[in-house]
Amino acid sequence: MQALTDKIKNLCSRRWQCGCGREHAISTQEVIISYGAMDVVPELVDRLFGGGSVGLVADEITDELAGQRVAHTLCSKGRKVIPIIFSSPLEATDARVTEVVSKASPHLVGLVAVGAGTINDITKSAAEKCGVRYIVVATAPSQNGYASPIAALKENGIKVTRPAKPPVAVVADTTILSQAPRSMISAGFADLLGRSTASADWLLTHLLKGEYYCEEPLAILSEAERACRRNALAIGRGETEAVELLMAALVLSSFSMVVAGSSAPASGGEHLVSHYLDFREEWHPKRSAAQRLHGIQVGVATLLMTRLYERLLALAAADIEAASLRGGSPEWGEEEKHIRRQFDKAAEAALQQFRRKFQPWKETRKNLGQIAQRWEDIRTQLSSRLLPAKIIENDLRAAGAATTPEEIGLTPDQMREAILNARYLRSRYTVLDFAADLGMLALFVSQQFA
Ligand SMILES: [Zn+2]
Ligand SMILES: [Zn+2]
Repeated sequence: MQALTDKIKNLCSRRWQCGCGREHAISTQEVIISYGAMDVVPELVDRLFGGGSVGLVADEITDELAGQRVAHTLCSKGRKVIPIIFSSPLEATDARVTEVVSKASPHLVGLVAVGAGTINDITKSAAEKCGVRYIVVATAPSQNGYASPIAALKENGIKVTRPAKPPVAVVADTTILSQAPRSMISAGFADLLGRSTASADWLLTHLLKGEYYCEEPLAILSEAERACRRNALAIGRGETEAVELLMAALVLSSFSMVVAGSSAPASGGEHLVSHYLDFREEWHPKRSAAQRLHGIQVGVATLLMTRLYERLLALAAADIEAASLRGGSPEWGEEEKHIRRQFDKAAEAALQQFRRKFQPWKETRKNLGQIAQRWEDIRTQLSSRLLPAKIIENDLRAAGAATTPEEIGLTPDQMREAILNARYLRSRYTVLDFAADLGMLALFVSQQFA
């Protein structure tokens, strides 16, 4: 753990020139993961916000868990605190962000978020809108977005990610973290493992589409990810030290996104599948809150995307060549019709996203021909990024996370639908698009869920 703590400390407030040609910078100044860390908040607020009132954003549950204590310690040091407490269950939407903004501005000097993913996303967006800093007091090691440069909000029924400034400080009190529901701890571990397919997708877009790519974000996370995987069982049991390790890895995963300047190293096809499951609200009533946790869904999807990768990477260059000759992916008109039918009120948003990566078959065919020429190299590089499906499955199980659609309350048909349609939700090219270009996505799902 000490090695990871030192690594995080070295990265805080750091700015450096990278071999990729870009300057990388991490704006988060402090990360405190320890027993009793919550009591440091007043000192951090003094140092990082200066004088004035602060808004404390929480929901009923996280307020009881930690918010009231944070507010009390702040008040006892003479700080004026304006509580902004939402009822649960809560969703991160623009309306919630606006509520915080209206209560916060113009007299607050900063915001303190007390909660997990949803509270963090709302507060991050609100702080961005108000032009103030924020500190997050994490209540569960359930996701890797705490210190990321983006906020995920629900808009017209679909999750959209927007750039937003990371917190100036992340505070994680291990007494609170280890009391978090086991499912939330397992979810954090599963979200972390999503790195495997996400980073492969990132490399895929670089190799196939020439998009920006850098190894640095992955180097930041690799040691922490290995340590968490070694301790998967202890994480699943919620042991304090293992949970502390997981939290450190989740912060480093956030930092990997900051360095990349996008969520690309930590969010690919597996996240799109999870977003699709969130979008299908009518499926929710039959699924428990634990089954719908972001990280838990991402874990199941990561395993499926890994199997998809394994299927594609088993192809020979001649198979890619053959796909380019066989072809044709649907033309725009056909795709548009499908999206309007499938996405209903979210159709415009999906169309806007998908249009940005859509290619007529003529171009796709040409690209596939070029890919076939470079296939051996592409295949080797992608393989080096991916954990094998067997390992993903074992690690998820050890950490108490779900591995099958059934375990998260989904029928095979629902999961089939999610995999076939997830790629319409975002303009980022992923393995789902590559499989579709090769004419193999429908085949894959029919074999997976036969
Ligand atoms: Zn770089
Ligand atoms: Zn995630």
